[in-house]
Amino acid sequence: MNNNINEMYLKLGINENVLDFCNDIEDSLKERFNEFDLIAEYNQLKVIKAMQQENVSEACLSSASTGYGYNDLGRDTLEKVYARIFKTEDALVRPQITCGTHALALALFSNLRPGDELLSVSGKPYDTLEEVIGIRESVGSLKEYGISYSQVDLKPDGRFDREGIKNAINSKTKLIAIQRSKGYQTRKTLSPYDIGDIIKFIKEINEDLIVMVDNCYGEFVCYNEPSEFGADMVVGSLIKNPGGGLAPLGGYIAGTKKCVENAAYRLTSPGLGKEVGASQGVMPRFYQGLFMSPVVVNSAVKGAVFASAIYEKLGYKVVPDSKEPRYDIIQAVELGSKEAMVEFCKGIQFAAPVDSFVTPEPWAMPGYDSDVIMAAGAFVQGSSIELSADGPVKPPYAVYFQGGLTWYHAKLGIINSLQKLVDAGIVKL
Ligand SMILES: *Cc1c(COP(=O)(O)O)cnc(C)c1O
Repeated sequence: MNNNINEMYLKLGINENVLDFCNDIEDSLKERFNEFDLIAEYNQLKVIKAMQQENVSEACLSSASTGYGYNDLGRDTLEKVYARIFKTEDALVRPQITCGTHALALALFSNLRPGDELLSVSGKPYDTLEEVIGIRESVGSLKEYGISYSQVDLKPDGRFDREGIKNAINSKTKLIAIQRSKGYQTRKTLSPYDIGDIIKFIKEINEDLIVMVDNCYGEFVCYNEPSEFGADMVVGSLIKNPGGGLAPLGGYIAGTKKCVENAAYRLTSPGLGKEVGASQGVMPRFYQGLFMSPVVVNSAVKGAVFASAIYEKLGYKVVPDSKEPRYDIIQAVELGSKEAMVEFCKGIQFAAPVDSFVTPEPWAMPGYDSDVIMAAGAFVQGSSIELSADGPVKPPYAVYFQGGLTWYHAKLGIINSLQKLVDAGIVKL
C-alpha cells in the first residue's frame, strides 16, 4: 500500500496489523466493487438523462418561492425528473414531507378511506409505522380512522407467502404494503425483481389493489426500482439515498397520477394539492443531491460489503453475507455483547467529520423496548445516508450499519470500528 496513505491511517490511530487485515479484505472485493461501479454508472446516466429531458435550467435552481409557492418551476420540474427516474406517471417531492415515516403515513392516509383494510405482505413493518397503523396504540393512527390492518409474514426462507397473501386478501383490502429493506430485522432485503413478481401475483387476484413499496434505503442500489415492476407508489426519504447527502430534509412519493394526487391533497389541502408549497432555498440541494446520489449510494454499498467481509472473516454473523446480492445499503453485524456494540459504535463516531469527539452511549429512546445505541457524526441531523450505526442493546446485540457519503470515509469508519474492538481485547487478529 501507498506509504502516504499508510501514514495517514497510522496518524488516525489505526495500527498496522488492523490496516493489513482490512487491506487484504479490500483486495478480495475488487470484482464485487466493479459490479457496483457499473450500477452506479448506469444510474448516474439515468439521472442525467432525466434532468436533460425535463430541461433542468438555472431558473429551476434559483426558484426559491416563498408564501404559497405558486408556480415554483424548480419544484415542479424536480417532480417530473423524479417521475422519469422512477418511471412513474407523477411524483411528489417536497421539503414539507418531514421524513420517511411522514412520507409513508402520507401515502397511506391519502389512499385509504374508513372501512378499507391495509395489508402488509412483507411481515412486520418498520418500527415507526406501528404507530401510524395503530399496531401500537397511538393518537391519530389509521386505526382511529376505522382503517383496519392485517399482515402476512414472509416465509422462513425470506420469500413471499403466496398462499397466505391470497387468503388474506378480502373485499375490504384496498392497499398492499411491501417493505423492501429489512429495516431493524435480520430478514433478507427484498429485491425489486422479487417485489415485481409478487405485484404481478397480487394484481392477478385484483387489479384494483394499490401496491405501495417502502423504498427507504433501496434507491439506486440496483439497475431498477420497484415502480418499474408495477408498484403504484414508491416512497422514501431524502435524508437517505435519493438526497445524496445534500438534501437537508424532505421525502418523496412517486407513483400513479391518482395516488400522487391523493397524497398531494392530503399533504396540503383538498383543492390545493400540488399547486402550493414554497420551496424556499432548498432546490439546489435537492437537485444536486439527486445528481450525486448514485455515486453516494455506491460508496455506501461498498462500505456495507467491506464491513460484511471483515466481520464475516472474524466469525461474526453478518446479514447479508459478503457474497450475497445487495438490494439496500444496510448491513447488520451480530456482535454478541453490549460491550462490542459500544466499541463498534465508538469506532464509527470517532471517524466522523462532525462530532468526532463525542462518545456514543446506550440510552432509552422513546418508542423502543430496550436501550438503543447510535453513532452518527453527520452534516444533516439523523441522516443515515451518512456513515452511521445503531441498534437496540439486546440479544443478539446486532449493530445496523449504513451509509458513507464517500467510500473512503466508510472505509475509515469500518477500519476504526475494528481497531476499537481490538483495543478493547474483544477481537484478536
Ligand atoms: C428509515 C426508514 C423508514 C422511516 O424513515 P424516517 O426518515 O426515519 O422516518 C421507514 N422504512 C424504512 C424501511 C426505513 O429504513
